[in-house]
Formats: sequence, structure tokens, C-alpha cells
Amino acid sequence: MNKLFETLLQDFLPTKLSRLIAAATMSLTGGVFCLPEGLALLQVQLTPPTILLIRCTVPLMIISLGLFCVLVLVVLHFRSSRLASKEFIDYKGANFKRKPSGGYHEVVYCGICKSPTSTRSQLAASYYQCKCGWVSSFTFEEFDTIFKELPP
Ligand SMILES: [Zn+2]
Repeated sequence: MNKLFETLLQDFLPTKLSRLIAAATMSLTGGVFCLPEGLALLQVQLTPPTILLIRCTVPLMIISLGLFCVLVLVVLHFRSSRLASKEFIDYKGANFKRKPSGGYHEVVYCGICKSPTSTRSQLAASYYQCKCGWVSSFTFEEFDTIFKELPP
């Protein structure tokens, strides 16, 4: 259940800023309900219709503004991750990065976090390893063959 919630949160509010705005929107909306009482404490007299107006329209405005900001952030986030995923191709579980001029960088990128990886040694039988724990399905020796097999 917790896992499901986390996945949903990751999809709907993928960035820290979007979560911050969502949280701020919720607390501001809650705060507005207490605003007339707060103003009364400050000796500001509001007529009942004004109080009703504040309680109805201000939360709506805050929620709309908050939702709009979150929506813009989410769209921007997914747009940039889509552009970034076009940069890499997944082959045999590893990632290869396209050069802007065509072809690929002669580096094996991690199949999970897309960081550049390396082999422990220059031995033919050594595998590419990432700091995150990922290990390639092919060895240093097989790299040249695999590199030639990459789609143009
Ligand atoms: Zn990694």
C-alpha cells in the first residue's frame, strides 16, 4: 500500500518543487478558513457575506493556482525526461548515448541510473559495473561486437 502511494506520488508529483507547491496549496487553503477569525482577533470587522465570500472564493483561487503550477511543473518534468530518454538507447540491458553528430559515445552507461560505467580491469572477461550495483550482461571483450550492432 505504501509502495503504491509512493509510485503514485512519483508520477503525479515527480519533483520536490511540485510537492512543495502541493503542500503549500493545501496548508494555505486550510489557513484561509481561519482567516476571518484571525482578522477578528486583529479587530478587523467583516460582514457575514464578506466572510462567506472569503471562505468560498479564496480557497478556490489558491487551489486553482496551485494546481496550475503543479501541472506546469509536471509537464516540464516529463518533457525533459522524454528528451533525455531519446538521448540514450537501451541495448542488452545497458545504455548507450547518442552523439549529436551521429553515432554513439564509446562508453557503456548504466542500465539503471545511466551513469558512465567502467570495468574493474582491462581483462577480456571483466564486466562493466556501476556504482549503483548494476553489472552489464556482456564483458569488456564483447564491447566492440555490441558497439557495432547498435542501431544507426
Ligand atoms: Zn547505475
